[in-house]
Amino acid sequence: MQRQFFFRKNHVIINFMETIISTIDKNNIDESIILNAGQILKEGGLVAFPTETVYGLGANALDEEAAKKTYAAKGRPSDNPLIVHIAELNALDKIVTDIPEMTEKIAQHFWPGPLTMIFKKSESVPYGTTGGLDTVAVRMPSDKIARALIVAAGGYVSAPSANTSGRPSPTTAQHVKADLDGKIDMILDGGSVDIGLESTILDMTVMPPMILRPGAITADMLEEVIGEVTVDKTLLDSSSTQRPKAPGMKYRHYAPDAKLTIVEGTLREEVLAIRQLAYEAHRQGRQVGIIATNESERYYTHGIVKNIGTRENEKTIARNLYAVLRDFNEEDISEIYSESFAVQGIGNAIMNRLEKAAGHVRISAAPIVAKQKYRRIVFVSQTDTSRGPVAAELLRNADLYQEYAIESRGMIVLFPEPVNQKVEAIMKSGKMTLQNHTSKAFMEEDLSEETLVLTFDESQKNKILSEYETSQNVYSINEFLDDTTEIPNPYGQPLTAYGEFYEIMKALIGKLANKLNSFTEGGK
Ligand code: AMP
Ligand code: MG
Repeated sequence: MQRQFFFRKNHVIINFMETIISTIDKNNIDESIILNAGQILKEGGLVAFPTETVYGLGANALDEEAAKKTYAAKGRPSDNPLIVHIAELNALDKIVTDIPEMTEKIAQHFWPGPLTMIFKKSESVPYGTTGGLDTVAVRMPSDKIARALIVAAGGYVSAPSANTSGRPSPTTAQHVKADLDGKIDMILDGGSVDIGLESTILDMTVMPPMILRPGAITADMLEEVIGEVTVDKTLLDSSSTQRPKAPGMKYRHYAPDAKLTIVEGTLREEVLAIRQLAYEAHRQGRQVGIIATNESERYYTHGIVKNIGTRENEKTIARNLYAVLRDFNEEDISEIYSESFAVQGIGNAIMNRLEKAAGHVRISAAPIVAKQKYRRIVFVSQTDTSRGPVAAELLRNADLYQEYAIESRGMIVLFPEPVNQKVEAIMKSGKMTLQNHTSKAFMEEDLSEETLVLTFDESQKNKILSEYETSQNVYSINEFLDDTTEIPNPYGQPLTAYGEFYEIMKALIGKLANKLNSFTEGGK
């Protein structure tokens, strides 16, 4: 056993031990480390080790006291049973009674691998390990380090995920260390795990067998081998008040520190809604976390965005999920929004874990998106060198409830030009700049269902309407605001004329901001 220190702090005895961390190469396993770890387990100690699903916290499964230590180290409720890990099929006989016929077929196909089966337990398995149940969960992992350790420990290693209860499961040794350093004897660091989500749990005590927890082995894969399987109803209906059949599934799990919300819709709707939520938070001085994918990452402009993987290969998403949830604990964020994923194949398991991490909080993207009448606003002037850019910059500096792409264009732009110096002088006096502006020509692509096009007078508007068949959402500023203020054109006049224009424009942009904000009610 390792050195242990006991000391008193506020009359509470704290048990502090030194956790040994040993790095192991899967492809060149150092037997002496495995023997040492196996010995620790035989003597009733705790060793965390990699499996292909997540890191497990190993203990001797046949030792009641070791089970107690496991629960204490994790802070896990003791009615939440542990899974017993074996390395050979014939090890089953000792720990279970009543092995259904189809077990062998299932084992042939899926063991070693990410599938746990539940059987009636034999007397050799203490109730401490099974959380008081008469059944026992058994898995044969495929990870080479896991298998070597199980053999070295005598064949039966109970192993829940090696995390503090309630936190995301560990997929690296660093995650284990963050949660359990000082509380367990040893961590075997075998690098990142492969699958990243816990095993599928299949209850073999009922016929047809029932999936109690989705994982990498899906219902379809099982049905191909043994015909019908059923799925615990409480997994399908997140609002169910029934108790799930796997006791562990009732607990809040995998939760990051910040409140997580799943946003549901088409991918486009999800991105637009999350963008809006992130923008609103930003306006209020808060920062959100965003769970995005390769496909969507680049569309977010506010918030801390973490790429969870690619939708083209959902395995990448499964592998990164817990690490991303953990990483967000390092960020100063008020809330996290996640896109949702297709509920098929391993997507079932991904959404199951994500929903648990979110405490089942889901919102629909469509109503948030529907509130956004326009996404882009384009001011159109003659040359895009004075009035247009000023209006656009004033609106960019306005307090808007919604994020818009705000731009300006000119009807006659032969080559890109900067704004003239008088414009820049006026902007400077208002603590703004148009230094980086160059004029751009208006084009048909600037007309769309989600773009509001604003001109400075009626004739300009009519010109657009007559020139482009697809004209939509084109208004003069006066028309759009139902206002009769004349907007002067300072072009070619002294600086004072620019100043006058600026003041008039500022007032109109204030009015425009209010009107735009009225479309996004509740944005405050
Ligand atoms: P973990 O080891 O952290 O993956 O959690 C083990 C999971 O297996 C928990 O959700 C347990 O409730 C479940 N489990 C273990 N043994 C049984 C059993 N005998 N019957 C039903 N579920 C079980
Ligand atoms: Mg767990």
